[in-house]
Amino acid sequence: MQNLIERAAQAIRRSRKTIALTGAGISAESGIPTFRDPGGLWDRYDPEEYATIQAFRSDPAKGWPMMKDFTELKTAKPNPGHHGLAQLEQMGMLHCIITQNVDNLHQAAGNRDVIEFHGNMRQVVCMSCRKLLPLDEISLDTLPPYCSCKGVFKPAGVFFGEPIPVDAMYRSQEAAQSCDLILVIGTSTVVYPAADIPRISKDLEKKPKYNSVNLCHIKRYGGRREVLSYSPKESGAQVIEINPEKTDLTQRISDFIIQEKAGVAIPQIVAAIKAMAS
Ligand code: NAD
Repeated sequence: MQNLIERAAQAIRRSRKTIALTGAGISAESGIPTFRDPGGLWDRYDPEEYATIQAFRSDPAKGWPMMKDFTELKTAKPNPGHHGLAQLEQMGMLHCIITQNVDNLHQAAGNRDVIEFHGNMRQVVCMSCRKLLPLDEISLDTLPPYCSCKGVFKPAGVFFGEPIPVDAMYRSQEAAQSCDLILVIGTSTVVYPAADIPRISKDLEKKPKYNSVNLCHIKRYGGRREVLSYSPKESGAQVIEINPEKTDLTQRISDFIIQEKAGVAIPQIVAAIKAMAS
């Protein structure tokens, strides 16, 4: 294990651009159950019945009690995994985080560049005028809550069947294509399109690059456009997973996996980077 921690630390030190993709697992040590944990939210509420946009539209009053029940979201605090990523950003070694989480804990830990792929459940959005408010600024005494424009408020997380926010999608793809190292932390990588992100980082075919090296290629090869679809790197970005369990990525995409809890592994990686620098 120590070997892999040092390997990850070394890879981050050498990387030109490291990004992180995080999932429910990084918040598990903050007391928020993951999707598939026994006793978690989805054991109590069938996602088909409660978490699809179609279900919410047809009966918003039915979907809201689940949101009220997601109390862990309101009280949870960042854990050492979140704090470790914030430190990496402060050290200039983490470009951005793409998170599937809706709990705001990366921001609470101090990360400034967090792309919220699935929105944020600590906010609500009016389905009519799109006004965005913090959840604790509206009353949940009567459900569903209404906006002053008479539209229904919906939690600002992305429901199943809703599109990914355009800005988050665009920025994530750009980050995935331009990084040379991606840390994939606490995600089973089964929810798409988020699960595509490490694959985009790894796969040269999907990496359109428009940098100076490629421009040289255009000149040399008379502007053949297909040359543009290759990165100057020999292979795609390095993919390092941090997850106690193996995932779909582990055998086919990841360079290696640190099979440990994020709250244990990330602080150790930060400590190893500091030790290497001193
Ligand atoms: P998932 O539940 O499918 O998978 C969680 C992964 O985390 C698993 O692979 C598990 O082995 C791993 N894990 C468990 N404990 C860990 C730990 N301490 N450290 C590192 N890894 C750990 O979650 P997902 O892949 O993120 O996809 C589920 C969807 O559910 C996401 O879209 C997300 O929006 C949503 N969700 C979010 C939250 C949250 O905001 N905290 C919580 C539950 C679900």
